[in-house]
Amino acid sequence: MDDVLHTQPANVEMPVAKAQIGGRAIVKLPFGYLDNGIMRDEVEIREMTGNEEELIADAKIPLIERISRVIGNCVEKIVDITDKNIIQKAVKQMSTEDRTCLVVNLRILSLGPLYDFIATCTSCSKSVKATVDLSTLEVTPAYSKETLFQDIVLPSGKKCKIKVQQGVDEETLDKFTSKNKNKILTAAIYLRVAELDDKKPTMEEITNLSWADRTFLRNQFDKLEGGLDMEISITCAGCDTDFTSNINIGQAEFFFPKG
Ligand SMILES: [Zn+2]
Repeated sequence: MDDVLHTQPANVEMPVAKAQIGGRAIVKLPFGYLDNGIMRDEVEIREMTGNEEELIADAKIPLIERISRVIGNCVEKIVDITDKNIIQKAVKQMSTEDRTCLVVNLRILSLGPLYDFIATCTSCSKSVKATVDLSTLEVTPAYSKETLFQDIVLPSGKKCKIKVQQGVDEETLDKFTSKNKNKILTAAIYLRVAELDDKKPTMEEITNLSWADRTFLRNQFDKLEGGLDMEISITCAGCDTDFTSNINIGQAEFFFPKG
């Protein structure tokens, strides 16, 4: 591997921010679609129509499936790939961070960049109205775009092979955490650890890792996958406390803005 891949690339602006609202846009993905060793990280999207609105509103379909279908419908091209069947399958293989990036860009392209939402103050628990310009969110490109896997050594000395979280993993995670709400943090790590000391770990082994190892792993996942910084700083109008809140693309308001 070239030395340059070991340096985290500088953050880049949201590509769609420069595109006009409506029509089409090119999105540069934080990671990219990796197929048979070929990396494709430029995607052409079209704005959402009533078809996608109906799809997003259809609560009978699991949310992750709805998001996959909306992305699949609106992606017109992944570099040279234009076959819709291949695109629909590719969307499920894409990283969670790339999928989030595409959803945010679809929102900007179709409904504009301003997103109003309600956050809860961490100090006084009051509801606080916040507005974010989605086109100003920072994108960090992935550490390397050559492989879905990376070998690392944990602070405890354990060897670990980590893996980019993909759309298919989101479905597994969703099914598991709907039944095991007290295991959400562990499951998110478990799905991204392909090997621990050269074998597939059990959920119990991931639970029993030290807090330091788990924190280290989460930081490594961020580097491996890149992505959008979804954390927003908010000041409470009631008690003047500054706190942070994460943008949640799964909230109804994200796609159905009021007013
Ligand atoms: Zn407050």
